[in-house]
Amino acid sequence: MRLNENITKLEQNYLFAEIAMRVRRHREEHPEAEILSLGINDVTRPLAPAVCDAMSVAAQEMRQTDRFHGYGDVQGELFLRRAICGYYRTYKVGIEPEDVFVSDGAKSDLANLCDLFAPESTVLLPNPVYPVFYDTSVMAGRQIIFARGTKENGFLPMPDDSIHADLIYLCSPNNPTGAVYTRAQLQAWVEYAHAHQACIIYDAAYEAYIRNAALPRSIFEIAGAETCAIEINSFSKMAGFTGVRCSWVIVPRALTAGDQSLHRLWMRRQSTKYNGTSYIVQRGAAAVFSAEGQRQVRMDVQYYMENADLIRNALRRSGVFTTGGEHAPYVWMECPYHLRSWDCFARLLQSQGIVSSPGVGFGAQGEGWLRFSSFGSRETIERAAHKLAALDWDQLALWQVSGGR
Ligand code: PLP
Repeated sequence: MRLNENITKLEQNYLFAEIAMRVRRHREEHPEAEILSLGINDVTRPLAPAVCDAMSVAAQEMRQTDRFHGYGDVQGELFLRRAICGYYRTYKVGIEPEDVFVSDGAKSDLANLCDLFAPESTVLLPNPVYPVFYDTSVMAGRQIIFARGTKENGFLPMPDDSIHADLIYLCSPNNPTGAVYTRAQLQAWVEYAHAHQACIIYDAAYEAYIRNAALPRSIFEIAGAETCAIEINSFSKMAGFTGVRCSWVIVPRALTAGDQSLHRLWMRRQSTKYNGTSYIVQRGAAAVFSAEGQRQVRMDVQYYMENADLIRNALRRSGVFTTGGEHAPYVWMECPYHLRSWDCFARLLQSQGIVSSPGVGFGAQGEGWLRFSSFGSRETIERAAHKLAALDWDQLALWQVSGGR
């Protein structure tokens, strides 16, 4: 057999698997120790009642001959695509159901979109960023260039016209830094994409966490984006669907490469490689956009954002620099004393039982930073915040770390 050489170029472990392994090792060595997990990407609040009720009704439909659903519309059921468009209208973005493709998760969408573009495409990735952008680009054999996020640019890298890219990934609000692009900044990216005949893949998975109405929630709020951008969004973080699985992709019909329509090609790809999202799940997803569903899921988003406030305030009280956490469920902390990410991670885990995510796992520009997730239960976050606020970083820097890094 002959392997795809590109897949062998990946790091041995996916970041979160590596964190889980280190926490497991710590647990085995210190079975009595309390572990407070602020490293996870996963949500902890249960599904909204409106969603569960809609899925129960849909499950009951499936036992009736005349209401049973087999294969559905590969693009997603019209009721859900219309509901998604209704949601966009709430922030004044006009999307037509024809441009919406429902699927089973933003991670799969990010990977699958690679099918649309030439293997020799040059990809521009912000750094640090969600590891899936990088890993899927490596697996597809792309040439990768980085746009550097720094403390100075607020982890919001801007385009450099002297560098050419065919594909640009943007994530706003950002995982891991929590940074959010302004309209003017996104406008500059759209102009860059036009100038380079590039396509922007815009990941809006944390859009529901934006608390300031002046900040853009979709790339399609920006003039000209419909001819240079694809947007991905997911029900995972907006409505706790991490285990249910549902997402959507907007591929505007106006988006073309030469005389080829990306919308038509994506439809063609999906009809061959995908057979549609579960009907029951789509009914649950549509319920997210009902008045009651919105009220319920927004309460959960608020809960997580209050957690973010607790983490941010505690860290600041301890004297470290943080950013993010205002319009995103992630707080991004600069490690004091120039500690490296994994070193600081180990010190926090071993001395406090607090699990974070090492910034370097999101790219070289994340070295020296840690990410704290606010998706834990209030009890966990309060206990962690209590410890963090009282943390003596001088002592932590002198702490004897066991087991390397
Ligand atoms: N995009 C970003 C930026 C994420 O942080 C995540 C999950 O952590 C995803 C996509 C994946 O979402 P899904 O659960 O829909 O696959």
